[in-house]
This record gives sequence, structure tokens and C-alpha cells, in this order.
Amino acid sequence: MAKDLYLAGEWRQGRGPVAQSIFPADGTVNAEFSTASVDDVNEAIEQADLAWRSSAWCESLPHQRAQVLYKVADIITERAEALSQLQTRDNGKPHAETMALVMSAAATARYVAAACETMDGELTSQRAADFMTMSVYEPVGVVAAITPWNSPIASEVQKLAPALAGGNAVILKPAQETSLIALELARIFEEAGLPKGLLSVLPGSGSVVGDAIVNHPLVRKISFTGGTTTGRRLAHIAAERLITTSLELGGKSPTIVLADADLDLAVKGVVYGIFSSAGQACIAGSRLFVAEEIYQEFMDKLVAATKGLRIGHPEKPGMHLGSLINEKHLNSVDGYVQLAKSEGGTVVCGGERMVEGEHAQGCFYLPTIITGLNNTARVCQEEIFGPVLVVMPFADEAALLAEANDSIYGLAAGIWTENYRKAMQLARALEVGTVWINTYKKFSISTPFGGFKESGIGREKGRLGILSYMQQKSIYLGLNETPNTWCD
Ligand code: NAD
Repeated sequence: MAKDLYLAGEWRQGRGPVAQSIFPADGTVNAEFSTASVDDVNEAIEQADLAWRSSAWCESLPHQRAQVLYKVADIITERAEALSQLQTRDNGKPHAETMALVMSAAATARYVAAACETMDGELTSQRAADFMTMSVYEPVGVVAAITPWNSPIASEVQKLAPALAGGNAVILKPAQETSLIALELARIFEEAGLPKGLLSVLPGSGSVVGDAIVNHPLVRKISFTGGTTTGRRLAHIAAERLITTSLELGGKSPTIVLADADLDLAVKGVVYGIFSSAGQACIAGSRLFVAEEIYQEFMDKLVAATKGLRIGHPEKPGMHLGSLINEKHLNSVDGYVQLAKSEGGTVVCGGERMVEGEHAQGCFYLPTIITGLNNTARVCQEEIFGPVLVVMPFADEAALLAEANDSIYGLAAGIWTENYRKAMQLARALEVGTVWINTYKKFSISTPFGGFKESGIGREKGRLGILSYMQQKSIYLGLNETPNTWCD
């Protein structure tokens, strides 16, 4: 077995159990790799703590740190095709989607590099004549970055780049399913010249490796993306240890189609919003509210567009949906569809696994639309994380807003209307971190991203993203030449 753990700048064989990366489109084994043990975790964190304190990093100038990130962006861009293929093998997403994620990772590294180079300090506004003050930002130290399997390279660079730009060291624990792409990322940072010790990539289970990382006394921040249940657990640990967290968690995002919407535009946006990534996206628009007046016309177009989607081998060009991540997850998605039926819902299209021909060996599930339920149904309240859309008509806009907000989650929402005044009123009233109006699932690295309610705490991206991995220190500089008279 290859040396397949990146521990403080060294390639090692992990001392934890052997794991497999499986291509979910046909069940073949991509690779076997060793995972980290608790001893590996402890060693990596101790090395990380030395590395961020070393003069090579903590005294490096912002443009020198930026140089590493520019290089990371260049290498990712050069190897985009290979990285995209590897990610498709890891999680079964179509090639076009994994390519977009790879390019987003490169853009993030480049953006953070530029932000790092040009970030100013602050001279505090003050009136005192005998002193002046300034605020400097300092690293927090060792950061635990823990990521899920659905958009690995993009969500990982979104944590590594700002954390390293801020002068920290990072221990990355990827989801076990997508360890290969995370290890490739380690190789890229190494080639880009990141000093040894500042990054470790430790594949392994959440319950052993993840748990050992977040509980280690030298870890000073947890940056987590994943499910709300895990996020809540990590928040408890962080509270107990009095360290900061940023939590990017689950969602059950509402999309609203008003009667005056451009229906063709809206249908395409809604289909993309829920069914791209086979619905395995935190921001998937999984609850759809459609104005009663246009409901039937909209549904006809929506069902036709959904039935026209191409579902197949993710390496084949032109596929809209690849496979789900694994058998267990497929069974969970199907369980929700069966639950919807038992609660009185009607499956308008989809609702089953694909078992014929090229789909027979993989975890393929038909894009599914369910009607006949209201927002209190479990499929409207719980995150399914699969290609399942529940549609509800609405007559009254005030009631609609209450229903759209009736969720423990608050990650994102979509609005389709030609009336921008109304759209802005709705956007302000929706309890979510991101609202898309006449578009969906678009991202800008300069725009902060994060959730309201149980969808998370903190924001990633934007120029201030680096500061979330730093802490402020205030320095007072005395200007008075006459001694303090207090002890006269
Ligand atoms: P998950 O919470 O099961 O796992 C996420 C990561 O946490 C994995 O690396 C896992 O090994 C680790 N982990 C699990 N238990 C742990 C523990 N006790 N201690 C430390 N680490 C632990 O989530 P998942 O199934 O991999 O991903 C799907 C979830 O991620 C969905 O809920 C989705 O909405 C969410 N997500 C959110 C965003 C966002 O930006 N808000 C983005 C992508 C995915």
C-alpha cells in the first residue's frame, strides 16, 4: 500500500485501519488507503503547533504566504482535468460538476491570496491625547478543518486557503469517501512550497480521527462543514473547550415561484436547484412553493423538464445526474420517498432506484417530485440530501412566508418573479443566509456564505473570511512624557 497519509509534511502509512475508495457508479474499488490513528493525530497536531509558531511562517510577510496560494491556484488549474476525474471517481458526480468544483477551488485560492496580500491593519479611532491604539490580527493557531464528501475540493480550499493566509496551521480531516482528492490537495500544497508541518491531511472516521482532532488541547478552532447533528456535537465540544467554531450545516431550502414569474426561466432554475449534484447539496432547493394561479401550468413544465434529465455514468459526457454517494445513502433517500407516500403524498415522477443496464451496478436514483403534502410533513422538514423535490401550491403570500420560514434550517432560498420590489421584500423576510432571485446556486467567492438557525454559525468567503481564522489584539502606545501621578 502506498504511503497515503500526509502528516506534517511527510508521506506515511497511517496506523489506523485500511479503508477503500469506491466508485459509486459501478461499485469498483478505486484504491485502498490507510487511515490515521489517534497517535497519528496527536503527532500531526504537535507538529502543527510548532509549525505555525516557527519564524518561517509567523514572521512571513503576507505576500510570501500569498505566493504559496497563487501557486496552489496555478497547479490546480494545470491539473484540473485529472483532479476532476479523481473527484468523479470518489463521489460519482458528473465530470462537468466536478470540473466546476475544481475551478472554484483554484479561484478561491487565488482570491484569498490577493486578499491576504492587500489586507490592511486598523488604527483604532481615538480621542485620547496621551496614547494611541491599534488593532493587529494574529493567528488562532492550529485549526481543525473537517469536511463532507459532496463538494470536497471546493469546500476544502475554502477552509485551507484563509486559515493558512491567516498564519495558522491546519489539520484536514476529509470525509472518508473522498479521501483521495484531499490527499491530492496535500500534494499540491506541498509542491506549492508550503513549509512542512503547516498542513496534515488525515483520512479516517469521524468518530475516531475527527473526535481525536477536535478534542486535542492544541486545536484552537474547528471549521466544520457537514450535517447538523455532527455540527451540534462539535459545538458542544468547542463550548466545553472555549474555542471558536464555524459551522456550515444542513438545509431544507424553500423556492418560491410567484404568479408573475417567467415560467420557463423558473422551471429551469428550479430543476437545476434541486436535481444538480443529484440533490446532494446543502443548498438544494428541496421545498417548492408555487402560486396557485400558475400551479398546473408550472407543474406540467416542471415534470416534463425533470423527465428529460439524463441520469447515468458520471464519466460519460452530457449527464445531468450521476450516482448517489453509496448504497446506504440511496436507501435513506428511498426511505424518505416511501415515508412521503405513507404520509399521503403522490409521487408525480421518479420515486425509484434505476436498476436496468448501465445503472444496474451503481447507486442511481430517479429525480423525484412529490405533491399532496403540506409543509409539516417529515419530507418537508428533514434534509433528504437526494434528488427529491416536494411541491406545494400557495394562495396567500403572508401564509406562504410563514411556511417558508417554518423550518429548523435557514441556509438558502430562491424567488422567481418579475417584480423586484416584491422579491426584495420577500428576500428580507426569509430567515436564511443566502437568497437567490431569478437565479439559483450561483456563487461568488467575494460574497459571504453561511446559514441562519440550525444551518450554521459563522460565514465563509469574502475578504473578511481570513479574519475569521484570526484573533484581534489591541496595542496601546503611550505618548505622554509626564509620569502617571496616581502613586504620587
Ligand atoms: P457528516 O456530518 O456525517 O460528516 C461530515 C464530516 O464530519 C466528515 O468528515 C465526518 O467524518 C466528520 N465527522 C463525523 N462525526 C464526527 C465527530 N464525532 N467528530 C468529528 N468529525 C466527525 O456529513 P456528511 O454526510 O459527510 O455530509 C452531508 C451533510 O453536509 C449534509 O447535511 C449537508 O447539508 C452538509 N453540508 C453543508 C454545507 C454548507 O456549506 N452548509 C456544504 C456541504 C454539505
